[in-house]
Amino acid sequence: MHKVTSEELFQRALKVAPGGVHSPVRSFKGLDRAPVFFTQAEGAFLTSVENKKYIDFCQSFGPLILGHLDAEVKEEVHRMVDTAWTFGAAEVYSLELAEWITSTLPFMEKLRFVSSGTEAVMSALRVARAATGRNKILKFEGCYHGHVDNLLVKAGSGLAGTAASSSAGIPAEVAAHTVVAPLDDEAKLAEVFAAQGKDIAAVIIEPLPANYGLLVQRPEFLRKVAELCEKNGSLLIFDEVISGFRVGLGGMVEKTGIRPDLVTYGKIIGGGFPVGCYGGKAELMNMVAPSGDVYQAGTLSANPIGMRAGLTTLKKMQRLDGWNVLEKRTAKFAQTLKAGFAKKGLNLEVSQVASLFWIHGQTPAPIRSIDQIPQNQGGTFKNLFLKSLNNGVYLAPNAYEVGFVSMAHSEELLDQAAQIIIEAAE
Ligand SMILES: *Cc1c(COP(=O)(O)O)cnc(C)c1O
Repeated sequence: MHKVTSEELFQRALKVAPGGVHSPVRSFKGLDRAPVFFTQAEGAFLTSVENKKYIDFCQSFGPLILGHLDAEVKEEVHRMVDTAWTFGAAEVYSLELAEWITSTLPFMEKLRFVSSGTEAVMSALRVARAATGRNKILKFEGCYHGHVDNLLVKAGSGLAGTAASSSAGIPAEVAAHTVVAPLDDEAKLAEVFAAQGKDIAAVIIEPLPANYGLLVQRPEFLRKVAELCEKNGSLLIFDEVISGFRVGLGGMVEKTGIRPDLVTYGKIIGGGFPVGCYGGKAELMNMVAPSGDVYQAGTLSANPIGMRAGLTTLKKMQRLDGWNVLEKRTAKFAQTLKAGFAKKGLNLEVSQVASLFWIHGQTPAPIRSIDQIPQNQGGTFKNLFLKSLNNGVYLAPNAYEVGFVSMAHSEELLDQAAQIIIEAAE
């Protein structure tokens, strides 16, 4: 009997979806093979249509901090599916998650649930513009904030801070409302603020940039960002869609001690279901409809299944001291990889923060901005990725995506995975 293969499914998918996928990085573009089609997931593992098992370090790009199909989350989700799917009305489930977040994280005075990280960012920008009466948004090169029109921009060729759209379909007039600055450069940032500060409604930053490699920022740089916002009357938005509930319960707000005006969440907050959230200072959030005149709505917002999965995930992480457990396990995993690369004389390095890691070529100093990423990152990764895949390790299929360790990745499994990756790197 003929068994279906990933290659055949990809050929079919190419006929019905652009590039055969529903989000670009899933496509294995530039990797010279069809993406693996999966049928099942459990704990730290994915199973393909070929019935091959992989240790999964993608974890759906971050949401699954407990791993796939966590037993406690599963039970709550089943219970919710048997209770209600969506109300489109006031209900108790979002209230419970909102109360848990606002009582645990004091900087989240008030919040609104949405259905994705992109939506959270888009909505936070609207509030910032309404609150300041200004139009411009400053973002940093190398930070990703979802596919918001305004933020799909790169540095333009004009004066300091000019932006050009990085996607077709975005009018120049829209990109013109965005100002771009490099990460890790206080002087450039001061220059941009000196020229345009009075027009900047908000600065949005991934306080731990993890969408273009892992670009760990110096605390002094982050403090400078906050200081310039304060001086210029611009709001500070921490986009914690990836770092929130990942680097610790209080995310980068807790780690840096910086208090932003607004914070955006996604990924982990929904425990594997589509949930986003924006919130922060009550006076700002009170501007949102129906209490204020900043309109923002959603048919499936605060979906009860996502609310339940999110709350169960967060409470379980808190109960297990999960963030400390993951930090230790991932640091050890990174050490094993580094020692293995060194032993084989390979020119590879691992950047790691909490349960995030990124493998890249060696550089003289830590990589903090995109221009410091080695030129051959794509080629280095391709070889490493394909051989790891062959031997049962699924890394996110792109040289600039980070890896995620979940509570389902035991120390033994991490050791096993490290050996496969080290071998693949040769
Ligand atoms: C993933 C991500 C987003 C976008 O979230 P989606 O749910 O994919 O729309 C925005 N900002 C950051 C920092 C992210 O990591």
